[in-house]
Amino acid sequence: MNQKRLGTLAVHAGEGETLAVPSTTTPVYLATTYRFPDAAEAAAYLEEPEGRWLYSRLENPTVRAAEKKIAALEGAEAALCFSSGMAAITATLLASLRAGDALLLCDTVYGQTTRLARDVLERFGVEVRPVPLSGLAEAAAAAPAGAKALLFETPTNPTLRVVDVAAVAVACRRRGILSLLDATFASPVNLQSLALGVDLVMHSTTKFLNGHSDHLGGAVAGRRELVDRVAAVRRSTGGNLDPAAAYDLIRGMKTLEVRVLRQNDTALRLARALEGHPKVAWVRYPFLESHPDHALARLQLRGGGGVLSFSVKGGYGPVARVHDALGLVARASSLGGVESLASIPVISSHRHASDAELAIQGIDRGTIRISVGLEDPDDVVADLLQALEQA
Ligand SMILES: *Cc1c(COP(=O)(O)O)cnc(C)c1O
Repeated sequence: MNQKRLGTLAVHAGEGETLAVPSTTTPVYLATTYRFPDAAEAAAYLEEPEGRWLYSRLENPTVRAAEKKIAALEGAEAALCFSSGMAAITATLLASLRAGDALLLCDTVYGQTTRLARDVLERFGVEVRPVPLSGLAEAAAAAPAGAKALLFETPTNPTLRVVDVAAVAVACRRRGILSLLDATFASPVNLQSLALGVDLVMHSTTKFLNGHSDHLGGAVAGRRELVDRVAAVRRSTGGNLDPAAAYDLIRGMKTLEVRVLRQNDTALRLARALEGHPKVAWVRYPFLESHPDHALARLQLRGGGGVLSFSVKGGYGPVARVHDALGLVARASSLGGVESLASIPVISSHRHASDAELAIQGIDRGTIRISVGLEDPDDVVADLLQALEQA
């Protein structure tokens, strides 16, 4: 019998030969571990890991390429990717706080972020102090000595309130408080957060950065010294992004600006079409003159974003009928994708909120949120107008 040593061939033949292929796109490096040519290189990794590779929970070349793109888009020294937006927020907060510290938490942030702070961080001795959206800079200026970080979002969900980011960042810096901004709704296209002075900007890359509803991820960007602290937490907690998902993110980001500019235009057109409609109580969109933060939005944002909300007169019954009559626009949560999506806050993001809490958030039982996609703007507007006939 002609015995071939297939085990060795199967493992090693062909490996590494494609490394120098001049591919136009970043390869997906699925490897969990990397070769060192010798002990000197293995030891060198310990001194200078940048540009070297050890193990993919620590760093991965495809993920690193996504991180470099995010850092470039945000004008940051460094960025990190995570397996979800919540993983990015978790690592950022764990890196910023210790037992006995206080976290100033804006009262309109993403619901899961509030639960992370209250249900998890408080168990580890972090005091969570809710602060009102309208007084973030004042709250930072008057913060107690133990306050170490302030976490906020702009524009907010679902009424798209716009925060004076520069004023909040300055107030935080004066008191030695880290300013942490979740800018998922703005995306780097509409808001350059770090240029306005915040210490760290976070994104759910699940939304606009990927933009195709086929990726779950998160990111944080800022000065290297701060990002390195978050990286240390990521190494220990294990929330690094998967390399295949990093590829989806890289590909999505290539069209980020084109997509968001189009979504800005479509959302403004839809907002104008809905405003003044006899069955609509109000419309919230930052670039509408009627928005409470319109002047600030025009100064600070390149566009109003792809999300708007409005209230159907008569409350839950009528808004549910509008929701159910949508044809093109999908009844689905999330935002920032190529498909237009509609969701009703009182049966999704704000399901646990009392009427008083809804009032604080500026919404009511007739509110519906729309995330516009890349369909023809006329088709999106027409779908909403026909659905409103059912209200
Ligand atoms: C979706 C979202 C998150 C959470 O991100 P995941 O990727 O779902 O973990 C955080 N903040 C905001 C503003 C979001 O919209």
